[in-house]
Amino acid sequence: MPKINLLPKNVAELIAAGEVVERPASVIKELVENSIDAGADIITVEIKRGGITYIRVTDNGCGIDFNDVPTAFLRHATSKIKIDNDLNSIATLGFRGEALAAVSSVAKVEMLTYSGSGDFGARYVIEGGEEISYEESGCPEGTTIIIRDIFYNTPARMKFLKKDVSEGNACAAVIERIALSHPEISFKLIRDGKQTLSTTGDGSIKSAVYSVLGREFTGGLIEAKGNIGSVSIEGLISKPVFCRPTRNNQFTFLNGRLVRSGTVIAAVEQAYKNSAMVGKFPGFVLYLTVPYDTVDVNVHPAKTEVRFSDERVIFDCVYSAVKSALASGDTRPEVKLNTPVFNKFEHMTTAQYRQQTIDEPKKEKTIAEQIYDRKIPQRDNSTFIYAQQKKAEFTPKITYVAPDGSETNPMTAEERKDSEIFKSTSVNTESNLESFLDESAPEKPVKNVDIIPEPEETEPEVLYIGEAFSTYIIVQKENSIFMIDKHAAHERIIFNRLRKEKTTEVQALLSPVAVTLSPEEYDAVTSNEKLLLSAGFETEDFGNNTVLVRAVPAFLTGEDVSAILCEAAESLIKTGIVSNEREDNLYHTVACKAAIKAGNKNSQTELLNLAKQVLSSKDVMYCPHGRPVAFEIKKRELEKQFGRIQ
Ligand code: ADP
Ligand code: MG
Repeated sequence: MPKINLLPKNVAELIAAGEVVERPASVIKELVENSIDAGADIITVEIKRGGITYIRVTDNGCGIDFNDVPTAFLRHATSKIKIDNDLNSIATLGFRGEALAAVSSVAKVEMLTYSGSGDFGARYVIEGGEEISYEESGCPEGTTIIIRDIFYNTPARMKFLKKDVSEGNACAAVIERIALSHPEISFKLIRDGKQTLSTTGDGSIKSAVYSVLGREFTGGLIEAKGNIGSVSIEGLISKPVFCRPTRNNQFTFLNGRLVRSGTVIAAVEQAYKNSAMVGKFPGFVLYLTVPYDTVDVNVHPAKTEVRFSDERVIFDCVYSAVKSALASGDTRPEVKLNTPVFNKFEHMTTAQYRQQTIDEPKKEKTIAEQIYDRKIPQRDNSTFIYAQQKKAEFTPKITYVAPDGSETNPMTAEERKDSEIFKSTSVNTESNLESFLDESAPEKPVKNVDIIPEPEETEPEVLYIGEAFSTYIIVQKENSIFMIDKHAAHERIIFNRLRKEKTTEVQALLSPVAVTLSPEEYDAVTSNEKLLLSAGFETEDFGNNTVLVRAVPAFLTGEDVSAILCEAAESLIKTGIVSNEREDNLYHTVACKAAIKAGNKNSQTELLNLAKQVLSSKDVMYCPHGRPVAFEIKKRELEKQFGRIQ
């Protein structure tokens, strides 16, 4: 039988260190969290070769008393927990008293620290767990800790490290997340001699997010806020049009700490239903504050998954905050045109232009610009100049950029009551129909044209300019031109109305139509008769997977009854966890069917009325599938474009 031995102290320590110190990024996390716990408001991190050869963390925190320094490097030495039940109400970040011990057992560590009491600070050097030097030293208040040659004494672990760049990126990601979680602390990151991140520490969430995630992301954000009891949420969410195909820009901070919570993600994404395109995800930076005793954060510092004692409250709080932010903020995208350059270079040849560009002294870039540059791939300068020249010669390309957060949209006239649109539907009144059609309209009117009644006349005037590609209505209102996707707009209006009124005009069929469905569809239809009725379908269970359709929504008269019922059934089947989703799905289907289509011929009056509807209501910005309904081009953008103003 093998003999049982106690592991030698240094081996035991190396094993324990493995739990805390996986890679340079995890060391940085521990050290920066220590700095935060020490009350620092300026923290600078410098790394070389991805942190593998060198990590320095400098803070202006409380420092460590000369006599306490060696103790801080012992396992289970901590100033953060004194009694057992403290564990339930831990607010500080690190609390296992392991980080310094772990790091110093696998690297060469040098610490300079001064607490402000006594004449000197301390310089302490410890390598592979062995104290090398411990002396008085003059140093500023706060702590600087330098970690050199991580894993120098454990080559096996060294092998698991990735390339310098990957390790460096992991370090940067850690700092970025911590910076986002503490807008009140100024963070700097210096990578191989270059400053790559700097946050102001002015306490503003927006400025922290700007510095970390770049201006492209920040421009497309709206603020969200709310609370339920002692649970509160605050932060920024992306405008629906800025949703991305990945979930990379989703950050949840719980009581100041980055966590992952399936509940929070689900709540946010649920709130974007009907606003964001399918397959695109909103970005968000949300700060959740809950009583400490309602969270079960796994005490392992490397774990971020979090559970709440009442997930429902969290879901509701996040959902309603996000939902109301989306409903109240003006999220309509604005079209901005590229800043024109032709004024300046109008009479230049390409060669002159190039020379001029080279000669122009480079302006010192702001930190934000440097950070922004970092986010986009380096461009090839020659093509760039060529592109600029091209831009000077030809009509500039239109690009969509984030509307400036400070700008308000003149279209969001407050609380205008949902118009009476469609209420007065009278499908069979010829005269009514005619009034909406001009001579150029086809003889047999396109279906649905009559369901766009004129909205109440409202100030200011909306001027009809035209229709492009039989799809986009172009109108002018005040100092803007709007391009409106007629199908998306109409669809959204019908959808909103169905959702609000939960009833619609029905058209009784001369004789009921029997529709045979698949068992699944049959189930969906027969168990949702009331809901279907609210959308205009009067159905009756006929047994044997068959239903009788007695009436259809008035604006769908003439459609193939069995085809639309099948579609309605499909939409009911695709139902998620939230009860109103079933309803929304059904209303989408109906709205999409009923709306005028791109390519349809519509009269001017009709299109103008539709445009007025769009511009006078706040909730007609995206079609139910999340495509934008309208884009705005401000007059001053055009003037800039034509060089009338600078
Ligand atoms: P823990 O953070 O879990 O307490 P650590 O090993 O990370 O354990 O740190 C041990 C102790 O060293 C801390 O409790 C704290 O008192 C002290 N300490 C570490 N880093 C700093 C710092 N940057 N400023 C002030 N004190 C620090
Ligand atoms: Mg710690």
